[in-house]
Amino acid sequence: MELIKTVEEMAALGAKLRAANTKVGIVPTMGYLHEGHLALAKEAVANNDVVVMSIFVNPIQFGPTEDLDQYPRDLAGDMAKAESVGVDYVFAPQPADMYPAGYATSVDMKIVTESLCGASRPGHFQGVCAVIIKLFNLVQPTNAYFGQKDGQQLAVIRRLAADLNMPVKINGVPIVREADGLAKSSRNVYLDADCRSQAVVLNQSLQVAKRMYDAGERDAGLIKAAVRAHIETAPLAEVEYVELVDALTMQPVLRPESQVMLALAVRFKTTRLIDNILLGEDD
Ligand code: AMP
Repeated sequence: MELIKTVEEMAALGAKLRAANTKVGIVPTMGYLHEGHLALAKEAVANNDVVVMSIFVNPIQFGPTEDLDQYPRDLAGDMAKAESVGVDYVFAPQPADMYPAGYATSVDMKIVTESLCGASRPGHFQGVCAVIIKLFNLVQPTNAYFGQKDGQQLAVIRRLAADLNMPVKINGVPIVREADGLAKSSRNVYLDADCRSQAVVLNQSLQVAKRMYDAGERDAGLIKAAVRAHIETAPLAEVEYVELVDALTMQPVLRPESQVMLALAVRFKTTRLIDNILLGEDD
């Protein structure tokens, strides 16, 4: 496995692979890798000739009061993990190389970015879209891999690729969870012991929603209220949102008919966790 540290080297490699008609898979990450990231990488390795994993804590997707500086980083550990699942290249550029003086572009998407995390993190998806376009232009991938863990991000990237006719297939990968059901996340390291034990209510509350949905309940208000009530059994949980949205547009639905996503964001002290479950057809 090779480490690529500069935009220039990555652009040259991407062009070379494209010229040779190589099937390239990209796995964009912010590093501090866990089994969730590695599930994406394994899927990429199984379906491409060459896999590039990017490891880049993208400053322009963080708000001014968010955890950019504290975000956990471990490039050496990440390299060993990436290599163990067969990744060919890790691309880990410096922020100043990705955003040199004079950089001025952000990407404005309507509808899909307006709910959920888009509402509570202004500018977040503009920054995500910009970095993903940059990564795709540098790597020129055939396939790109994103986790359902960040369900709105996956919907945003699908919309972006379709709207801008990007020649890349967007592949979604199911959520990887801890044994007790907590979705794996680099941010789980922020949780103290009390928060960690109470955070199991997130996945439990999604299961509450699934049981109601499977039993025929279609009143979004009742489903959301039951989810919220379950989360609130944890004294340290502060609900930011619980929403039932269309799986493609991320717009709130009152009565689910096509596939929907029950999505939540909850704070445990200073740590903000997100999780979701898909309900309905294609389930
Ligand atoms: P991040 O490093 O948090 O930006 O995540 C990089 C990619 O890994 C994103 O596409 C995430 O959705 C995906 N990912 C993160 N955690 C998980 C998980 N627990 N299960 C599946 N995919 C995940």
